[in-house]
Amino acid sequence: MKEPVLIIGGGPAGMALALALHQRGVFARIVDSRPRGAAKSDARILALSHGSRLILENLGVWGKIPHTPITTIHVSHQGGLGRTRIRAAEENVPALGYVLAAGDLATVLDTALAKHGTAFDDNTAAPAHPDSALIVHAEGHIDNSNNVADIHNRDYGQHAVICTARASAPPRGVAWERFTPAGPVALLPCNDAYAVVMTCPAGESATIAAANDSDFLALLQSRFGANVRLTAASPRLVYPLGLRLRRQPVVGREVWIGNAAQTLHPVAGQGFNLALRDISELADALTDAADPGDAQRLARYAAGRRIDRISTVGFTDGLVRLFSNDSAPLRHLRSAGLLALDLIPAARSFLARRMMFGARGW
Ligand SMILES: Cc1cc2nc3c(=O)[nH]c(=O)nc-3n(C[C@H](O)[C@H](O)[C@H](O)COP(=O)(O)OP(=O)(O)OC[C@H]3O[C@@H](n4cnc5c(N)ncnc54)[C@H](O)[C@@H]3O)c2cc1C
Repeated sequence: MKEPVLIIGGGPAGMALALALHQRGVFARIVDSRPRGAAKSDARILALSHGSRLILENLGVWGKIPHTPITTIHVSHQGGLGRTRIRAAEENVPALGYVLAAGDLATVLDTALAKHGTAFDDNTAAPAHPDSALIVHAEGHIDNSNNVADIHNRDYGQHAVICTARASAPPRGVAWERFTPAGPVALLPCNDAYAVVMTCPAGESATIAAANDSDFLALLQSRFGANVRLTAASPRLVYPLGLRLRRQPVVGREVWIGNAAQTLHPVAGQGFNLALRDISELADALTDAADPGDAQRLARYAAGRRIDRISTVGFTDGLVRLFSNDSAPLRHLRSAGLLALDLIPAARSFLARRMMFGARGW
């Protein structure tokens, strides 16, 4: 008999899906080319939405992940008027989102899988011809060596430099997103410090990351502005950025999830949030399936995810292209947009709910 589900990739997306399937009584096996536990040293800091919290609560892991609530998001842009603040209290939620370490998330997911005895073959490459009813790709990247026509690819020419930074005052739940012509800068509250994601032109990232702490802080402060006074920074890491979208997340008995389905710019912190919504709906679609690779179920899953995927990718891509640009007309448009958001509570609420729940937010 065929093995029900093979998940290729034991990063956070693959592990979360395995957990969701276990809860629904569907057997899944993970294979990962790295040693088990490698994902625990992922240095990225993630902002997860209120909707993602609910999904992780259903998986029984939320309470074990250390996290910092975001109660206010402050959005502004360099060189123009207009700024807006989105507040959790206005949206009647305890927090707009939560900041956590990708490594902590991986640790908690791995522990839960180990407790359930989920099969996890580490140091194992994907089999060439798996004999599984359903193969889920969660390899964390999009390989366009075959079927190039199905992959939408945009290179923004930007890299992210990430680190943590201390400031003269603790963050108190405020997340800052500042758009600059060189790319967006985000400061996320993380315990009593900030997690920094500074986007910069690709050709400058290595020099910026290698700069000494005081030169780096001076550059970060000049990009970010005077709202927060930064006093210290940890060593920097660089991540290349771009948009890669696999238009068809289902082909035959294969499904792509997480970064293997879409790799997004981190500007709006949507990548793993979108992955969790895919995972939750895929697990629902496979509940009680005699054959997890059943074409009709998978087609329904793909159709059900279409609007959320396309709109989340479009929203993120639009933000990067609208804000990473110094043309005067676009600067005025940005100012007008931020002012309008600030003045119109319904528009703010629309944006907040979109960030929290994806396309179903309205
Ligand atoms: C700077 C930055 C900031 C971000 N901030 C946010 C944020 O605030 N909010 C948010 O929601 N998202 C954010 N993201 C996105 C988020 O990090 C990703 O969506 C998430 O980590 C993807 O998880 P994954 O499991 O799909 O991939 P990965 O974590 O890459 O895991 C893939 C796994 O597959 C394994 N693998 C690879 N190839 C094979 C193979 N051939 N055979 C077997 N195994 C294989 C790897 O060893 C790895 O364990 C950010 C990304 C970046 C770069």
